[in-house]
Amino acid sequence: MRHVTITIDKQSVVVPENYTILQAAEKLGIHIPRLCYDPNLEIVASCRLCLVEIEGNPKLQTSCSMLVSDGMVVYTETKKVVDARKVILQLLLDNHPNDCLTCQKAGECLLQTYAYRYDVRFREHDGAYKEKYIDTTSPYILKDDSKCIVCGKCVRTCEQVSDRKVLTLANRGFDTRVVADANLTLEESSCVSCNRCVTVCPVGALLDKRTLGKSRIWDVNTTEFRCKVCEYGCDFEVLSRKDKNISVRAKAPSNGRPLCLKGRLTAEFLNIDEPETPYRKEKDKFVESSWKEALGLSDILEKMQKLDK
Ligand code: SF4
Ligand code: SF4
Ligand code: SF4
Repeated sequence: MRHVTITIDKQSVVVPENYTILQAAEKLGIHIPRLCYDPNLEIVASCRLCLVEIEGNPKLQTSCSMLVSDGMVVYTETKKVVDARKVILQLLLDNHPNDCLTCQKAGECLLQTYAYRYDVRFREHDGAYKEKYIDTTSPYILKDDSKCIVCGKCVRTCEQVSDRKVLTLANRGFDTRVVADANLTLEESSCVSCNRCVTVCPVGALLDKRTLGKSRIWDVNTTEFRCKVCEYGCDFEVLSRKDKNISVRAKAPSNGRPLCLKGRLTAEFLNIDEPETPYRKEKDKFVESSWKEALGLSDILEKMQKLDK
């Protein structure tokens, strides 16, 4: 692979020619703000927060999609760039619920992080607010459309779950929202509760329901737990406070695997002292389950009992 030299914020770096500006900046330790970019997902360059200025180019360019070229000179925080980012953030915050005080995502929310970084406030201008629609039907996911910034990451990651494609973006413009199947609730939909969409949502629009109200992120320690249910080994996170494990949440799928519910429930069962009741789906309904059913152990235990007789 041919390599090129590029200068970003007056620092030079040599990178492969198929790198984007955003990837080259990361090599220099420069974080360019982004909401819709994820290195594991298709690049759509829709949030436009990663705009940068390129010497000799009158228009700002999205750094997540623009490839590097030899001799390119890039600036990531000029006044023009910062002004553009402020406008984008203001448009998002003008119709966003002012809910950071109690939002479970606070402390990890990218919108909150960038609003603070660029000193952009909630609802500086009057206008329409997003309709409040909260889907509480899943015992594993809370979906709050009023906080959705339509980055599409959940849709793109759900597409990677084999045979699923549960989520899509419906409607247009201001009314665009994420829907499950043909606008069904998560319970009625074909969602398999892998929580993969929750792991990529940059804001509090998709939350792990089993972690709600248990802790604020700045109060907990997190340790990684690698699932051993199958040979792929997806990553989960165990959240603990005062030496007590209080919840588990999905972190990252392993290559080719979706982060399945069985793996997550096994991680909860092994790590949490008093795990919450598990639920499984029967047709279009979530029903309470026993742990041996949820972990798929019923057959094994039955056979063991027969062998013990
Ligand atoms: S999603 Fe982020 S910005 Fe919105 S209320 Fe929650 S923490 Fe605040
Ligand atoms: S939990 Fe999994 S299957 Fe359900 S919507 Fe999210 S990514 Fe898709
Ligand atoms: S629910 Fe979250 S990940 Fe999905 S489009 Fe909205 S903000 Fe993005």
